[in-house]
Amino acid sequence: MPDSFDLLVVGAGVIGLSVAWRAAQRGLAVCVVERERPGVGASTAAAGLLGPSEPHAWTGPLGAATRAALEAWEDFALELERAADGPVGLRRDGALHIATDTAEVAALEETAAALEAAGIAFERLDAAACARIEPGLRTVAAGLLVPGEAQVDTGRLLARLARACTRAGVQIDIGVEPLSAIRGGDGPVEGVRLSDGTERLAPLTVLACGAWSSQATWLPEAARPPVRPLAGEYVLLAGDPERPPVSRAVRGRLGSIVPRAGGVAWLGTTVRDAGYARLPAVAAVRDVLERWTRLLPALEGLSISSVGCGLRPASPDGLPFVGPSAIEGLAVATGHGRNGIIHAPLAGEAIAALAAGDGLPAVVGPFDPRRAVADAPGTTTADR
Ligand SMILES: Cc1cc2nc3c(=O)[nH]c(=O)nc-3n(C[C@H](O)[C@H](O)[C@H](O)COP(=O)(O)OP(=O)(O)OC[C@H]3O[C@@H](n4cnc5c(N)ncnc54)[C@H](O)[C@@H]3O)c2cc1C
Repeated sequence: MPDSFDLLVVGAGVIGLSVAWRAAQRGLAVCVVERERPGVGASTAAAGLLGPSEPHAWTGPLGAATRAALEAWEDFALELERAADGPVGLRRDGALHIATDTAEVAALEETAAALEAAGIAFERLDAAACARIEPGLRTVAAGLLVPGEAQVDTGRLLARLARACTRAGVQIDIGVEPLSAIRGGDGPVEGVRLSDGTERLAPLTVLACGAWSSQATWLPEAARPPVRPLAGEYVLLAGDPERPPVSRAVRGRLGSIVPRAGGVAWLGTTVRDAGYARLPAVAAVRDVLERWTRLLPALEGLSISSVGCGLRPASPDGLPFVGPSAIEGLAVATGHGRNGIIHAPLAGEAIAALAAGDGLPAVVGPFDPRRAVADAPGTTTADR
C-alpha cells in the first residue's frame, strides 16, 4: 500500500470526498483517512435540500458562495452519476415553503425578501393555493412556491462520491485516524501518523472532519477551526411509492418533509446545541413527529424505517472555513453548518485547485480559516 501522496484528506464526509474526487480528477494522487466509514457524519443525515433554510445564507459573502455552489450543482451531480455509474437522486420538483401562523408568516416574508434579493424565482400562494398543490397539508396560512429548488438523496450522494473517488484512484483508508502530524519542529505538516501505526505523507493535508474538526488533537490548537456540533434529529418514513405524502419538499420554520424515491420521506428536524451525543433524543424525535403529523395527518399511516441524529459543523460567525490554515502544509474545509450539501461542489473545487497549485477561487476568500471569528447573531436559530 503506498504511503506517499500529493494530497491527504482527513474525513470522508461530503466535503472531504468532494475535495478528494475533484483533486484526483486533476491528476493528483489522493488518500482519504476516515475513522468510521464514509458518510457516517452529518452528510447522510442531511435532508439534501439544495436551497438554504436561513435567509442570511442568501446574503453577503455566504450568499455569493451559496449562489455559486447552487449554479455548480447540476453539472456536479451529472458528472458524478456518470463517474460512479448510478443516480444521486437529484430531483427538481421545487419546494413549498409554508407558514402556519402569524409569526411564521413574518418569517416567510424574510425568506421572500432574501429570495427576491438573490434573484431566485418564486410564487406567493394563499392558503387555498397551498391546499390545491399539497392537499394533505392542514392549517397552512400562506406559502412560497420555489420551482427551481432541487434536492438530492444524501445516502445515494455519499455512496456515489465514495465510488467515484475509488474509480478515480483515491485510496480510502477506513477505520483509522491521525494520532499526530508529521512535522519538523514548527515546520510544515508533511503527513500524519495513524492509529494503526502506519504513516501517510503528502505536501498538503486537509482537515475535513466536520463537527469534530475542533477536536483534532493531532494538530496544534491554533490550527483547529472553532467549529461546534449542532445536533439535528430526523426520521425516515416508508410509505407507498405510488402515493407519496407530499409531491415536493415542504419546508417551514419548524423543519421539512422531503419525499425520496421508493415511497421514502425524510422528516426533520431539530437544531440543538447538545455536544457530541450522536444518539437521537426521545423528546426531539417526538417533537418532529408531533409537529409533522399535526400538519400532515396522513403520515400517521406510514411506518418508521429509521431515526437518526447528525452533527452539523457550525462556525461562530456562520461562515465556513475553506483554505490554507495557519500552518504550512495544512488546509481546512469545514464549518458548513446547515449548508454543507449545497456547498460541497464549491469546497471540493476550491481545495482541489489549491492542492494543484492554482490558488483559491475568489468567492471562498472570505472563508479564510485564519480570519478572526466572532459570534454572528441569528446564524443558528431557525429549524430546517
Ligand atoms: C438533520 C440535518 C439536516 C441537514 N440538511 C441539510 C440540507 O438539506 N442541505 C445542506 O446543504 N446541508 C444540510 N445539512 C448540513 C450538512 O449535512 C453538513 O453541513 C455537511 O454534511 C457537513 O459535511 P462534512 O463533510 O463537513 O462533515 P461530516 O459529514 O460530518 O463528515 C466528517 C467526517 O469526518 C470523520 N472524522 C471525524 N474525525 C475524524 C478523525 N479524527 N479521523 C478521521 N476521520 C474523522 C467523521 O467520521 C465523518 O465521516 C444538514 C445536517 C443535518 C444534521
